[in-house]
Formats: sequence, C-alpha cells, structure tokens
Amino acid sequence: MIKRTLLVLFPVFLSILLLSFSEKDKPVQKATIKTLIVDPGHGGFDPGARGLTSNEADVSLEVALKFGRALKEEFPELNVVYTRTTDIGAGGKKTKKEDLYYRANLANESSGDLFISIHCNSSGKRAGGWYERVVTGKTPIKKTVGKGKKRRTVNSYKYTYGTVYRENTAHGTETYIWALSKNDAKVNSVNKMEYYGEIDSSGTMGIQLPDPSDPAEKARMLIYAQHFFRKSLNLADLVEKEFEASGRLSRGVKQRNDEGIWVLQATGMPSILVEIGFITNKEEEEYLNSDKGQKEIVEDLMNAFRVYKQKVESKTISTMP
Ligand SMILES: [Zn+2]
Repeated sequence: MIKRTLLVLFPVFLSILLLSFSEKDKPVQKATIKTLIVDPGHGGFDPGARGLTSNEADVSLEVALKFGRALKEEFPELNVVYTRTTDIGAGGKKTKKEDLYYRANLANESSGDLFISIHCNSSGKRAGGWYERVVTGKTPIKKTVGKGKKRRTVNSYKYTYGTVYRENTAHGTETYIWALSKNDAKVNSVNKMEYYGEIDSSGTMGIQLPDPSDPAEKARMLIYAQHFFRKSLNLADLVEKEFEASGRLSRGVKQRNDEGIWVLQATGMPSILVEIGFITNKEEEEYLNSDKGQKEIVEDLMNAFRVYKQKVESKTISTMP
C-alpha cells in the first residue's frame, strides 16, 4: 500500500517541476485545454464490476469512445488521447499495477491538460439482486422450561422462515476527485528513501527528482497540487449537476483513496473519475448499455466539459510562485 502511494507521486512531481521551470519566464499565460486524456476504466485481464449481462470494462469503453468522438466533433482542434481503445489492459499490460502506471504515464507524457476516467459503479452485492432467508411469521406458543420443581410454562413464539428476493437497488452517479488532505503527505513522503528505491526498481526513471527539502520547491509543488484540485472539483461538480439535470440520481462529488482512484493522484493535471451508474442495478445496467443512456451520458459529459473549458480559457492564469 505504501509503495503504491509512493509510486503515485513521481509523475505529479515531475510535471509540477517541469511546469514550474517552463513557466518561469512567462508572468501571465492564457490557459487553453489542448489535450484531454480519456481513460476507460479496466479492460483485458480486468473486466471490472460485473452486471447481469455486461461488465464495467466494456461499458466504460463504449461510453469513453463515444465521448471522445463527440469531443472531436465539437472541438476538432482538441487532442484526445485514449488510454485504451479496445478490450485490453491499458498498454497491453497484464497486471493492475502496470496497467495503472501506464495510464498515468501516458497522460503525463502526452502533456494532458485534463484527465477524465470513466467507470461503472457496483454495490458490492450480487448484480440484479439476491435471495435472503427471512422470518415470515411468528405464532405465540406456550413452552415448558426447567426440571422438577422448577418446571414451568412460559410464553414464547414459533417462527416461520421463508426466502425472499432482494433487489440490488443502489443506483446513481458519483464523480471522484483525489483527497486534498493527501497533498501534504505526498510532498512529505518524497523525503523517504523507499521512494527513490521504488522509482529505481521500476527501471524507467533516469530523471532528476525534485528536491523536497528545498522549502520553496515544496511550497510550489503544494500550490500546483491545490490548483489542480480546485479545477478538478469544479469539473466534478459540473458533471454531477448535468447528470442530475438529466433526471439521474446524483450521489455527488466524492473523495476516496483506493486502487481505482490511483490514476487521479498520479496525473499531473486536473483529473476526475466518473462512475456513470451502477452496473449491479438491473435497470441502470440496461440504461448504461442502451443507445439512449450512452447518448445521454455523453451529452452530460460534453455539457460539463464545455462549461469547464470556457471557464478555464476565459481566465488568464497567473504563474504560480
Ligand atoms: Zn472501476
């Protein structure tokens, strides 16, 4: 767990470092979104959550490709980079760790201005529903207890049991951003020796790491992380509002730190992870697989992106210290 956290840090710091150098000589710069990374979750060896008739990897890919096409149609100048376009682990990788690492690296190497990951949610229980043994009735009875002189009659109940089908009712959308509280921890953890060890063992890093013992550098890294966080939160909020306007149940903008959210922390750019619905809910799975549902989801994402892009590009963003 700790190694994964440490591994996450490198691309963020690298981009932060590169940004801070390349922008040093430009006091004010007009922000533009040139490259958008579209990340369909899971794939290949990892089907993700399972529904009754489909899996998360396939649905996420279909929606992500449609979203990418809609983006290119409306913004032909936009560079859309997919982390995968077929049913494979990203980059053809065979383990979860390599797959996620590839996604984050691709995003960073492509100089993405925004990272949008598409996933389907699951409630943790069986898709569709499950059978459960329950009490169906209770009849009062007289029961004899004790022995000898202590023998007496008490009131009790006779229970009858049956099996009922419980529908898997969890549904709705959620959009994730990384946990801000982790920013400082991320900066501090660079001091640890394991960090360097982990980077070396990956065999891909021959680059000078930022020096977090330099207070100015540490502050700069933190400010950039917070800057990305604000933008991510803004977009996540727009996405959930669009879902709500389409009549979906919005479960809101959330934060969590688990494997699925790893890419959000590893990408040196604003990043969100959209759970477009519960694949474990029979009705919602049908919606997620339908042309109508996918079209609506893509429209919602487009509406949110359009507003976000306009907001970001209408402002001049001053250089970070
Ligand atoms: Zn997922």
